[in-house]
Amino acid sequence: MSERRFIQVILPLQLEWEPFYCYDLGDGAEPLGEGDRIRVDFSGKEYVAVVSNPDAGGEAVRIGIDRIKPVLQKDLGLDRVSKTELDLWRQVARYYLCSVGEVYKAAYPAGKTAEEEVKARIGERLRKRLEEKERMIARARKPETKERYTRERDAILAEIARDAGERPRSSAPEIELTQPQSIAYSEIKEAFKSGKPALLRGVTGSGKTEIYLKLARETLDEGRNVLFLVPEIALSRQLEDRIRELFPCELQVFHSGESMVRRREAATFIRTGSYMVLGTRSSVFLPHRDIGLVIIDEEHDPSYKQDNPAPRYNGRETAIMLAKLHGAAVVLGSATPSLESLYNCSVGRYSLVNLTARYYEAGDADVEIIDTIAERRKNGMRGSFSLKLIDHIRECLDRKEQVMILRERRAYSPVVQCEECGYIPKCKRCNVSLSLHLKTDGSGKLVCHYCGKVMDFTGTCPKCGGKLSPLGAGTQRIEEEAKELFPGARIARLDSDSAQSRRNGTDIIRNFSSGDTDILVGTRMVTKGFDFSGLTLVAVLQADSILSQQDYRADERSLQMLEQFRGRCGRRGRKGLFVIQTSQPEHPVYKSLEGDLNEKSTLAGFLAERKLFGYPPFSRVVGITVKDYNLTRLEKMSGDLAAVLENTPLNPGVSIIGPYKPAVDRISNQYIRAFRILLPKDRSLSENKATIAKVADSFGKERKYTGHITLDVDPV
Ligand code: ADP
Ligand code: ZN
Repeated sequence: MSERRFIQVILPLQLEWEPFYCYDLGDGAEPLGEGDRIRVDFSGKEYVAVVSNPDAGGEAVRIGIDRIKPVLQKDLGLDRVSKTELDLWRQVARYYLCSVGEVYKAAYPAGKTAEEEVKARIGERLRKRLEEKERMIARARKPETKERYTRERDAILAEIARDAGERPRSSAPEIELTQPQSIAYSEIKEAFKSGKPALLRGVTGSGKTEIYLKLARETLDEGRNVLFLVPEIALSRQLEDRIRELFPCELQVFHSGESMVRRREAATFIRTGSYMVLGTRSSVFLPHRDIGLVIIDEEHDPSYKQDNPAPRYNGRETAIMLAKLHGAAVVLGSATPSLESLYNCSVGRYSLVNLTARYYEAGDADVEIIDTIAERRKNGMRGSFSLKLIDHIRECLDRKEQVMILRERRAYSPVVQCEECGYIPKCKRCNVSLSLHLKTDGSGKLVCHYCGKVMDFTGTCPKCGGKLSPLGAGTQRIEEEAKELFPGARIARLDSDSAQSRRNGTDIIRNFSSGDTDILVGTRMVTKGFDFSGLTLVAVLQADSILSQQDYRADERSLQMLEQFRGRCGRRGRKGLFVIQTSQPEHPVYKSLEGDLNEKSTLAGFLAERKLFGYPPFSRVVGITVKDYNLTRLEKMSGDLAAVLENTPLNPGVSIIGPYKPAVDRISNQYIRAFRILLPKDRSLSENKATIAKVADSFGKERKYTGHITLDVDPV
């Protein structure tokens, strides 16, 4: 008897969570399995869908068999999505209040590249890299540089061999841990035995990486695989180089924004042998196989969170979900752990492991706070620099040591203003002022940092014809000032303008690292985990811009960033100096930096405050954003939503804040209102979240509104 088969699928779209869409496989068709990928038509467009229910006869009857469309193509030659992947997608969708289809879309970005083409491109890329390395070896002057390039070339050769189907295990030297590292290592192993994630809190330069890699080596020896997550693929590639040295055969690098080709390449790699993926958050969605260890480095870093589009997931939490599904051990590491993770330690969910000794002996950098208002009064400022800082920099340059300067605003100046009438040019599409950037020919342009709009800068006020002049200094102007103040010094700048391509960024870092640059000016990019031996002075200019974020986490964030920056210097035996120029020298964040980092009381203070206001980690937050091109309609819509939420039966202890105007309340012509819902962390949590999602979903679908609603769980 021939039997007609029906299936349900996941489409890469924002559709209702479940049930998924139903298709007809035809009479007597070979059954498909869960996770098979097929081509279907939906609303006149073709998609690659994933089978979520291979036997949906009952559902088909309910829908009405005549209305069900046939599957377009069954055998696409694509790998089946594993049960574990599907489980992860479902968990992520449930937790982050999005559709499974949206997670699928993030995990398998669409692309039309054929398999053979992918292969060819992989081969070509490796060949290019090999040629480039050979050139670098030929050019290298220092023997140790030559040696490093040679190692890197050998790694590429290994990769080429591997690509040809041979995939040997790496046989790199043993990792020798120091005594304090060994102790931390054993404590981590203890935590693993009890099935808990370990939080490794290790000061910068303590050698957390060596510990991770030792754990990784063991995992690979046991025949299981490793996922090593980082917030961003560091420009410096120091970490990548170190891993490649130890695991040339197993390493696969993968970051967000990788093309379809790269994703296929990574998937193929994962399928064909034992592996270690070094990647950013989206690598949690690779088709992983038998992971034994998940490493989450710099776990406090907010860039683990995806803001847009959905799924608005946090790579750290998702990696922990992934680890659970694979039965893998988890180690989180940071010099400045998040309050969230420390809290998890305090309630026994994670194990805290401390590592306080640096590998290269060095004290903490001394902190010197310079009050810019007081200095200005005493005529002690030269532009953005205080005379005190100028002296420190001169001494440092005299000793042939290096300096890093942090300024949290790119551009020449963040704002321009008319000297006559006070007019400040703003973006026509966003409620923000325009920044002045200088072009290479010295002329200026005004840029919106939100929508990217660029306009020529004429220097004349469009209102009164007066003179427009720069207000304040961004990195570009500070670089210029530094060139005037220190004419003999070699000065470079690292921000998203100067590091437009990854190659440029890498070059800037390499030059600093090799001592070819004396002073590096930059945005927070410079605070990331680079290891520079010649750096002994780090300075923050206008630190106020770091402290002034409007968020309950502002202090925690600022402290983490300043600590990370401080950790950049004095790493090799020499004691460093950390200078902060600010107009609020009494700010409590500086106090906790100045003390011998008595983080116990600082953290206790932060936690007490969070508890008092019912903020995370004592609650969970769901953020709601409403956007509309029309302000009146937006206000009506957000007001109505407030009323609906008010009348929604949520469990006690829920508090709803909003609608309120966010700091920037209009971007690309869309007006914005926001809500913040604080949910108690008890058994009512998932029910409350689901209720909110349902309310928002049906509200957003009402025809009388033109606005758009998005939900964000655990916003950062
Ligand atoms: P962290 O990540 O904790 O800031 P790193 O892992 O970058 O520290 O280590 C700092 C420096 O010390 C690196 O240059 C690293 O190579 C070196 N180092 C740390 N531990 C060891 C070790 N056990 N053997 C050799 N070098 C080490
Ligand atoms: Zn704009």
